[in-house]
Amino acid sequence: MWRYAAVLPLGHGESPVSLGEGATPLHELPILARELGIARLWVKDEGMNPTASFKARGMSAAITRAAHLGVPGVVVPTAGNAGAALTAYAAAAGIPVRVYAPRGTPSPILATIVALGADLQLVDGHIGDAGKQSRAFAAESGYFDMSTLREPYRIEGKKTMGLELAEQLGWTLPSHIVYPTGGGTGLIGMWKVFAEMRDGGWLPRDIVMPRMVVAQATGCAPMVRAFEARADRATPWENPETHASGLRVPGPLGDRLILRALYESDGDAAAVDEDVIRSDTLRLSRASGVDAAPEGGCALGVLEKLVREGRVAKDADVLVFNTGSGASYRF
Ligand SMILES: *Cc1c(COP(=O)(O)O)cnc(C)c1O
Repeated sequence: MWRYAAVLPLGHGESPVSLGEGATPLHELPILARELGIARLWVKDEGMNPTASFKARGMSAAITRAAHLGVPGVVVPTAGNAGAALTAYAAAAGIPVRVYAPRGTPSPILATIVALGADLQLVDGHIGDAGKQSRAFAAESGYFDMSTLREPYRIEGKKTMGLELAEQLGWTLPSHIVYPTGGGTGLIGMWKVFAEMRDGGWLPRDIVMPRMVVAQATGCAPMVRAFEARADRATPWENPETHASGLRVPGPLGDRLILRALYESDGDAAAVDEDVIRSDTLRLSRASGVDAAPEGGCALGVLEKLVREGRVAKDADVLVFNTGSGASYRF
């Protein structure tokens, strides 16, 4: 990831806290594209990152800054993968770490958090409830709050997903990017960097930007609801439930930025139910050899729905994100 240091938060003479994040594979899936009825389809496999999700990118950038600024400790509320990634990078930097996670977080992810040395606090409720406890602890302890979009650097790390996919596609962009959206940092980061790349001359001035597509679960779809209402803010989802735990974010702090990316890109947003997520996770895995996470299955399910409803055209070149690894969810 740090090959893109020129656009990342790294000072002169500083070295990054890195565990080999980024440079994840992009697989083209021509048979699945034909079955769906679109021109081309790729999956970018973020499950190949350290601790098995794209959260590694943001945490590598954020811990790099935190280490140079000398924070006494770091704390994060998480639906799972952010806690595992933060713990790994904090361990690499020798910084104490505390993680607040819902009791129902997949057990392999909790086991990783404990194995890598975090002080794990289990919370009744969802990531929003974990956030309240995490912020109270940060205020009393002086630990730095690493939650989504409350510090400026995680989003910078996530920009590298956009840089990489453009480079892997020979400095072109797909017509659609389908992104399983929880807090939305991946989508916001990519949308930010596409403009940076165009303005910096990395992409042609007249490049057609991808349509950004939010994929969510019907059990927790605050961004789909807000998009359908053409709102500029989202209202918190009551009783959020989905086994795609990275998507169980009822009230994303970055709601306005997510919606702005959708409107500016002429994008779309849709949700699918738990059965579709389950079957499309297997479909994606078996069509690609990628051990897809439920969040990746959700992205494929939403793509199928949009093609079926004529909202993605037959000549589309679509890139779906598999944001994590199926292994983290088998227990
Ligand atoms: C965190 C997470 C998401 C949601 O990511 P955002 O960029 O915060 O929307 C999706 N999938 C997985 C596997 C995650 O860990």
